[in-house]
Amino acid sequence: MAKAIIECPHCKKECERRPLSRISPDRDPAVRQKVQDLSLFRWKCPNCGTTVLVEDPCLYHDIANQFMVWLAPDGKKPEAGHFDPLAGYALRYVDDLNAFREKINILERGLDDRAVEIMKLILFLQLQHDLDVVELVFHDLDERTGDFRFAAVLSDGAEQYAAMPGQTYQRVLLDVSERLYTPHDFVKIDMQWAADALDLLRAE
Ligand SMILES: [Zn+2]
Repeated sequence: MAKAIIECPHCKKECERRPLSRISPDRDPAVRQKVQDLSLFRWKCPNCGTTVLVEDPCLYHDIANQFMVWLAPDGKKPEAGHFDPLAGYALRYVDDLNAFREKINILERGLDDRAVEIMKLILFLQLQHDLDVVELVFHDLDERTGDFRFAAVLSDGAEQYAAMPGQTYQRVLLDVSERLYTPHDFVKIDMQWAADALDLLRAE
C-alpha cells in the first residue's frame, strides 16, 4: 500500500501516513466502532500532537450483512468495474464522514436505506414547521417500541431527538420495494434521492 504525505495543519511538518483504502469489519470487528466514533479517521501529528480528521477515499465492505459503502470525498460516483456485481448486495456511495457512518449504521441493521431516507424527508418536513433543522441523521431503533430514532441538528448547533413509528417504515418499505427500481450499482441514496423518489411515487 502506497504511503502518502500529509502536512500537519498546525506545525506544517510533512509526514508520511498510510491512507485507508478498504475497511473490513469481518476481518477486524473493532473497525466497526472506530468508524462510528470516527477514530479510524483521526491522524495525530508525530511532531506536535495535533489531531486532524482525514477523509480518505475508501471502501467499507461488510460481508456478513452484504453491503459495500464507498466514502468518496470528491462526490464522484466510484467505478463499479472493480467489483463483481454481487447479487443481493446493497452498493452505496456517500461524500462525507457523517453520511458514511450513518449509512453503515442503517445497513448493518438489515434496514432498507431507501425507506429510511424517505422517512427522514417526511420527518424533516414535519419538524420544519417548528424548528430550524439543518441536518437529520438516523440514530438507532428503540428496542422496546420499535420506533426509529433520528438526531436533528438545528441551526444553532443544538441536537434534538425525534422518533417515527416502525409502522411508517413498513409502509414506506412496501412502496419502495414494489414501485421503485434501484440499479444494482453504486448509488447515492440521501434525502435528495428521497425527494425525487417521493415525486415519482406521488406522480403515479
Ligand atoms: Zn504537527
